[in-house]
Amino acid sequence: MPGRNGHPGRFDAGYRACEFAETLSGNLCELSGTARFSGALLCEKHAGQLEARERLDLLRGIVSFLDLCLRNVRIRNDTNLARLLNAERTRAESQLEPAHEALRRTIA
Ligand SMILES: [Zn+2]
Repeated sequence: MPGRNGHPGRFDAGYRACEFAETLSGNLCELSGTARFSGALLCEKHAGQLEARERLDLLRGIVSFLDLCLRNVRIRNDTNLARLLNAERTRAESQLEPAHEALRRTIA
């Protein structure tokens, strides 16, 4: 018989289930929620997973934003600024694979 939060045998007063399923509509997680992430109470595993995903999304956003900036004619004509933005883009892009790998580790 399911207990509180739909998890079997979880009636102890201090237990609060990870809300991962409620936030992402996936499988139920029966681990205890111990970390706050974007307003949800999550277990350490899912909090780490969402942090890694957020970091990857942020890096992708930075690369896309810099690509967009570098298409601007005024910026392209300003050699120093274009060089600076290209360097930042290269730096952000170099972090994509490590961020992707970090996310894969949290899912495995
Ligand atoms: Zn969880």
